[in-house]
Amino acid sequence: MNPNLTLTRNNLIRQQSFVDGQWVDAADGRRMAVIDPATGATIGEVPDSGADDARAAVDAAQRAFESYRHTVARERAALLKRWHGLIMANQEDLARLISREQGKPLMESRTEVAYGASYVEWFAEEAKRGGGDVIPEQHPGHRMLVVKQPVGVVAAITPWNFPLAMLARKIAPALAAGCAVVCKPAEDTPLTALAMAALLEEAGAPAGLVNILTSSRERAAPLGDAWLADPRVRKISFTGSTPVGKHLARHSADTLKRLSLELGGNAPFIVFEDADLVAAVDGLMVAKFRNAGQTCICPNRVYVQQSVYATFIEMLAARVGALTIGPAGGSAEIGPLINLRAIEKAEAHLADAVAHGARLVVGGARHACPDAPDGHFFTPTVVADVDARMRMSHEETFGPVVPVTPFATEDEVVALANDTPYGLAAYFYSRDIDRVWQVAESIEAGMVAVNDGVLSTEVAPFGGIKESGYGREGSQYGLDEYLNIKYIRHGNLPVRKQA
Ligand code: ADP
Repeated sequence: MNPNLTLTRNNLIRQQSFVDGQWVDAADGRRMAVIDPATGATIGEVPDSGADDARAAVDAAQRAFESYRHTVARERAALLKRWHGLIMANQEDLARLISREQGKPLMESRTEVAYGASYVEWFAEEAKRGGGDVIPEQHPGHRMLVVKQPVGVVAAITPWNFPLAMLARKIAPALAAGCAVVCKPAEDTPLTALAMAALLEEAGAPAGLVNILTSSRERAAPLGDAWLADPRVRKISFTGSTPVGKHLARHSADTLKRLSLELGGNAPFIVFEDADLVAAVDGLMVAKFRNAGQTCICPNRVYVQQSVYATFIEMLAARVGALTIGPAGGSAEIGPLINLRAIEKAEAHLADAVAHGARLVVGGARHACPDAPDGHFFTPTVVADVDARMRMSHEETFGPVVPVTPFATEDEVVALANDTPYGLAAYFYSRDIDRVWQVAESIEAGMVAVNDGVLSTEVAPFGGIKESGYGREGSQYGLDEYLNIKYIRHGNLPVRKQA
């Protein structure tokens, strides 16, 4: 046990992988450190798993699947409900774990636990609704049915920015559908995933149904490649960067796995001159600064119509300048970025923008936090007069930096918003009803928020288009990602006589 990290229930701090219902080390015994991004301190150590471990996990998952696939929906729903209850009963401990290894403020971590749990509850309910169809027969003496069956073993690969929610969003629908899971959480945030496995064990999940392997960045590729090559893995559900998503798509072609890919975004946030500017600033603050700007749906390009441009920047700068920065335990609104690479990216984007003529309005530097001098803190930043030549308008900054660009007309801004290979989320503010429909329908994105800064909820389909990926998580559409459709035709039945 690490003295640095204590919870109310210290048995939620697991430092081994979970395979076939056992807590295990990597086959070759390699381990890796877990770092607190606010202090740089080591708060735990977990296995650094490789290809052999990956195959062993699939062996266990396949065995569990052979039996679990035959469970009835009510039984699967009950398992998920028990898991949901345990997640919420341990909300505070899970939130503390998230904050320690990921860095987000404790308030946000509590919200993440509830948000992740909401997917578990939702899919507990959806499990019972994964029915099929009866197709009216074309010829006498036939019946045609459509049934839905679990795809098989699912590999779930998750990112560090929402270590609990991204995992729940994949494991819950898989279990609801009748699949077994092998999962690799991000190298920066393995402890939350292992705590979720401990709660699933407590909920009574059969051995091998969900297997969690932790690994370093260096070993993510050999581990992932073992799953890609394995014909028993029938689906990959991935949330992360577009290059890794493309790698998974390319290399799953040999075994034609099904894929759900939730990849990078480059979300536009548009403020028209007829918008409620106060509401628009509120929405932008929520959408942009959650998790210090480290979310795939956070606005990465803010376009403001010329006549309200100066006013909007002034209002925004006042709010951004007032944000408080610090480690997760206190009342600060902005925590550290995940690692030094993230700080360097924000700095590089800023330097490039300023070199090309952008104007720094507020922030723009590393932040030395008296309580955490070694933390990766960056001051919330507003940059004005950003244009399409600058890196920050076509690459995700993934930090607390708001680039603002003026525009003249609706057509111009829609073209600017769509001028990206990505298409995950988009936001705009307007009170003109014609414009609302026109823009909502013209924007190339999987999700559009109109006069709102919030999109994510378990009841709505989350996912992108273009190079932001495919597949949807949550909602009435989410379960089908884990089900195969089977058509059953039954012939030579007695023909009913017509009167
Ligand atoms: P980010 O830039 O947010 O870290 P990544 O796409 O690099 O996004 O990482 C998301 C997840 O994908 C992490 O769990 C990471 O370890 C994993 N990953 C990275 N490279 C590979 C790979 N070649 N095969 C399988 N998983 C990978």
